[in-house]
Amino acid sequence: MTELSGLQIFKHLPAAKKGEGTNCKKCGFPTCMAFALKLAKNQAGISLCEHASSELKEIFEYGMKKSQQEITIGNVKIGGENVLYRHDKTFINPTAIAIVVDTDKPNWQEKLERIKNFEITRINDTLKVDLIWAKGKHAETIQGMGVTVVCDEKLPLVEIKEDSFQKTAEKLVFTREKAVLEKDENYSTPVYVHLEHTEDLNDLCARAAYYICKYANMLMFEDFDEAMISTLMTLRQNIFTDPQKPLKVEAKVYEFNNPDENALVFLTTNFALTYFAVANELEALNTGSYLIVTPSDGMSVLTAWSAEKFTAQIVAKSVTTAGLAEKVKNKRIIIPGLLAHMQDELQEAIPDFEIVVGTNEAYLISDFIKAL
Ligand code: SF4
Repeated sequence: MTELSGLQIFKHLPAAKKGEGTNCKKCGFPTCMAFALKLAKNQAGISLCEHASSELKEIFEYGMKKSQQEITIGNVKIGGENVLYRHDKTFINPTAIAIVVDTDKPNWQEKLERIKNFEITRINDTLKVDLIWAKGKHAETIQGMGVTVVCDEKLPLVEIKEDSFQKTAEKLVFTREKAVLEKDENYSTPVYVHLEHTEDLNDLCARAAYYICKYANMLMFEDFDEAMISTLMTLRQNIFTDPQKPLKVEAKVYEFNNPDENALVFLTTNFALTYFAVANELEALNTGSYLIVTPSDGMSVLTAWSAEKFTAQIVAKSVTTAGLAEKVKNKRIIIPGLLAHMQDELQEAIPDFEIVVGTNEAYLISDFIKAL
């Protein structure tokens, strides 16, 4: 992989210098420029041209080196990261959460049961513990949990011993920088931190949160606390989503508080943050409501409108598909206040409903409904 443009590559090929081999076609392409363009798109390999400069070959060899290996344990993928900051591209594999179950300790079955039953849903993901590290006399008996179980084996990862918080954090950052910035093979193995038992779960949670951000590929906990793991998994989900792909929810009609024929009807786009902001407010209303969520590639309302993903035609189709004209007496659709300029256009496209302009901010919905 290289970040060089076709023109930058071309400068290293014979045709740019009128050197030996110029446009000789031995690479399978009609000209050096054609080959350069293919290389830039990673659609050809540098080895096809025997005349390329040694400097160019070195650049490509370096580009082919992996920053960090990706290791698979059971069905858990760990590592494979190649950037320092999520917004540079994206992080690849979420920090795996592993829990130690020591079968020589009392109450290990109860702990195991809680791990097994632990499951939370955030946005569209169902999140569970990734891995169990089973120890002790009965370790081999822990199977069929729906979670990867590792029994007293040597992990194919490098442990960063948790010393003081500061030293551990520094080691994690140093290791990732070596792997990503220098592609140093001595630091290319994914790393984990083993967090010992503590009575202070807040402190444990704070340390673990930092290690998720920078740069543990796996965290192994002696303690299993549902609230703490939920917090960490929610943070992890935020860090490890691809910043180029907006989080979205399914475009459909959502119901709140058992809506009946007197229910209110709201409308918004399928951008996850918008949806959850509105959904929380609708849940808190003491009346039933429907929320029509339109397909908009996960864009917020104004972005969707400017990208023509929230047009009167798209909205009208969503309203018709929702089939609410027969379900509600109160034929009003409350649209986001930010789309007030579309009111007339929407009214024309959806003649069965009165289009009402709602609030700019979701937290104002409750007061808006009282005034309505
Ligand atoms: Fe140019 Fe090399 Fe291809 Fe020959 S083999 S055409 S020198 S790129």
